[in-house]
Amino acid sequence: MSDHEPLLAVESVSKRYGDERVLNDVSFTMDRGDVTVMMGPSGSGKSTLLRCVNRLTDVDSGEIRLGDHRVTDPGIDVDALRRDVGMVFQDINLFTHLTALKNVTLGLREVRGFSKDDAREAATEQLERVGLGDQLDSYPGELSGGQKQRVGIARALAMEPDLLLFDEPTSALDPELVGEVTAVMADLAAGGMTMLVVTHEKGFAREAATDALFLDAGSIAERGPPAQLFENPENERTAEFLDRVS
Ligand code: ADP
Ligand code: MG
Repeated sequence: MSDHEPLLAVESVSKRYGDERVLNDVSFTMDRGDVTVMMGPSGSGKSTLLRCVNRLTDVDSGEIRLGDHRVTDPGIDVDALRRDVGMVFQDINLFTHLTALKNVTLGLREVRGFSKDDAREAATEQLERVGLGDQLDSYPGELSGGQKQRVGIARALAMEPDLLLFDEPTSALDPELVGEVTAVMADLAAGGMTMLVVTHEKGFAREAATDALFLDAGSIAERGPPAQLFENPENERTAEFLDRVS
C-alpha cells in the first residue's frame, strides 16, 4: 500500500466499442513529476486510454482520479478537469488564421480569463520556452511541422496543467523534425512536468521517462523502467513490438 494519493490513478478501467474490448482492466498510477511512456501496436487502445483520462470518452467500468477530480464520476466538471489536463495531439490542430502567439493566448483569454497584456506575456514566455521566441507573429502555414507541434506544446503549457498528455506527438513529422520536438519534451520532463506520453521514440523514453508501459490488445502487458523494458522485455509481445520499432 502506498501512503500517499498519486496524482493520477487509473483503476480497473475497461471499455468496449460494440463487441470489441478496447481497454481491458487497465490499472496504473502516476505521481507528480512522473514521465510515463506508453507504447503498443496500433489499435491496442493507447489513444482511447488518453481520451478516458481527460474525459473525451467514457469508461464502461473502473475509476480514474486526477488530483481532486473524480474523472469517471457522472457529475464531473469536465471544464475544470480539462483546465488541469493539457493534451498534445498527433495532428497539429492549430488555428491556421491565427499567429503562433494568438494560438497560445486564445485559451488564456477565454478559459483562464487573462487580460490581453497578461495573456501576451504568458504566451510569449511559453513560446520562448519551446524555442519559438522569434516566431511569435508567424502563421502556422509559415512554420515547419516541428515548429507547429512546439506551438501546440506551448499552448498546452500556458494553461499550467497538472498533467500533460501526448498522443504520438512526433509520428506525423518528417524524421528530421522529430528531434526538436522530443528535445522540448525532454526539457519539460527534466523540469518536473508530469507527462503521459504515447510515443514509439525509444530515445526519448530512455532519456526522459521514469517508466514505460506496454499496451497490448487493451491490457497492460508489461510495465517497468524504460531501460529494463527495452533491454530485457519479459513479455514476448513486448519484445516483438520493440524489435519492430527500433
Ligand atoms: P491506438 O491509439 O493504440 O492505435 P485506439 O485507442 O485508437 O488505439 O483504438 C483502439 C481500438 O478501438 C481500435 O480497434 C479502434 O478501431 C477502436 N476505436 C477507437 N475509437 C473508436 C470509436 N470512436 N468508435 C469505435 N471504435 C473505436
Ligand atoms: Mg492512437
